[in-house]
Amino acid sequence: MHDFLKRLGIKEVNSGVFSDKWLEGKGGEVTSYSPANGEAIAKVTLATKEEYEEVMAAAQESFKKWRTVPAPIRGQVVRELGEVLRAHKDDLGRLVTLEMGKIHQEGLGEVQEIIDIIDYAVGLSRQLYGFTMHSERPGHRMYDQYHPLGVVGVITAFNFPAAVFGWNAMIAAVCGDSVVWKPSLKTPLVAVAMQNLFAPVLAKHGFPGLFTLCTGEDLVIGETLVNDHRIPLVSATGSVRMGKIVGAKVAGRLGRSILELGGNNAIILTPSADLNIAIPGIVFGAVGTAGQRCTTTRRLICHESLVDQVVEKLVNAYGQVRIGDPLDADTLMGPLIDEDAVQQMQAALEKVRQEGGEVLCGGERVDRPGFYVTPAIAKAKNEFDIVQNETFAPILYVIPYSNLDEAIGYQNGVPQGLSSAIFTNEMREGETFLSHVGSDCGIANVNIGTSGAEIGGAFGGEKETGGGRESGSDSWKAYMRRQTNTINYSSELPLAQGITFEF
Ligand code: NAD
Repeated sequence: MHDFLKRLGIKEVNSGVFSDKWLEGKGGEVTSYSPANGEAIAKVTLATKEEYEEVMAAAQESFKKWRTVPAPIRGQVVRELGEVLRAHKDDLGRLVTLEMGKIHQEGLGEVQEIIDIIDYAVGLSRQLYGFTMHSERPGHRMYDQYHPLGVVGVITAFNFPAAVFGWNAMIAAVCGDSVVWKPSLKTPLVAVAMQNLFAPVLAKHGFPGLFTLCTGEDLVIGETLVNDHRIPLVSATGSVRMGKIVGAKVAGRLGRSILELGGNNAIILTPSADLNIAIPGIVFGAVGTAGQRCTTTRRLICHESLVDQVVEKLVNAYGQVRIGDPLDADTLMGPLIDEDAVQQMQAALEKVRQEGGEVLCGGERVDRPGFYVTPAIAKAKNEFDIVQNETFAPILYVIPYSNLDEAIGYQNGVPQGLSSAIFTNEMREGETFLSHVGSDCGIANVNIGTSGAEIGGAFGGEKETGGGRESGSDSWKAYMRRQTNTINYSSELPLAQGITFEF
């Protein structure tokens, strides 16, 4: 076993269940395989429903105490989590790479994202403010305030096995909530390692059950968590398929959910675009993380006058993308997560052909152990069935357009609404794209690609992407309960709207 795994407390068999201590995990076990070489890394045990109850009890207990800690003091505890991550950034980044397959630079970036969100959360812990407003009644004062919400359920996807937990947990923690984390069964070791890093810090401060972990099957632990009325907020990141199930179940019990689901992100490339920045933006967006980001560029809506030269440049750039072991510093594109993902990519390219499109390059399996493919570019129409769906692989569909209205129509003409971008040097085009008649996505960029958001902004998307927002701006409000307060300091009891009620 690698030394960095040992430094993260990973053993050959690990418990995946933590209440305020590690439980056995009597619900079976999964083996985590590295997509980089197909080899087993280690095993993780899964929770039973009884163990889930123990986890919930610890999370509830922690919440009761934690909510009474002043928010800025909560921030100081969260700050210490950032110190631990800084000290283990390289190790944890390596584990993200080994278990998920993204290149080491991106593995490091993922850990950095949590460090950034921690810094943000620490500042936020002094700014959880509401408004004051003027009462219509004399001698009255009104304001609103935000209180801790409760136990937050966090369900995470395999492709950001560390950062998505960080976005949720750190904001939840400064807001006064405790967390139950159900990670993806494709990347359970990252979750175990993070628990190993954070638990001692939280225990030292008397809150061992603030961040709990409940690794388990979707239909056992996932659904138990989703249906649990003791969890007022479920934040779920993953596919649209999962979001439709989870969203409906949480809504069915009138709980709240933050849904961060699939994207079908496009870049509009206009005739005035600076190709020196557009081409690298497109390549990073489409090929980075082997096309397995929710914000991956999946469609290039390209002005018809540019298509030939842009395709030539892209095919040329794709030929230079070094595909290989993601831990190798020279590699630009690692493997897909598993065999299923390879099959889905190849099936999608077959479908493009069947629908009348043309695969211009890529899509072949790379002959080495693991799940490596070459990134693909295909000419397609926006209305193709396959283009309307997110295939979680590096396929870029090139769709020609003739005027901006048509381009924006294509951009918005898919069920998902996560990230979008335009490359233009025309102020009118950029502003139209950002206006109310422009992109309908949660994220809209000018002269920047679709992926690689900063944590300071609210992150999330519209339509089938689920409508949730996480990370910066005022996303924290979803993790708290809002209360409107009216205080009467007069000796009268006037009623609102001038209603009289005399007896
Ligand atoms: P997935 O939907 O297969 O799984 C996501 C998580 O949901 C996993 O933890 C899984 O175990 C859990 N899950 C699945 N069914 C469940 C159920 N019925 N009840 C409870 N939990 C359930 O997704 P994935 O393959 O891990 O991740 C890739 C997908 O995630 C892509 O569609 C990608 O776009 C999306 N994603 C979105 C964002 C975003 O912020 N919008 C970020 C990352 C990934």
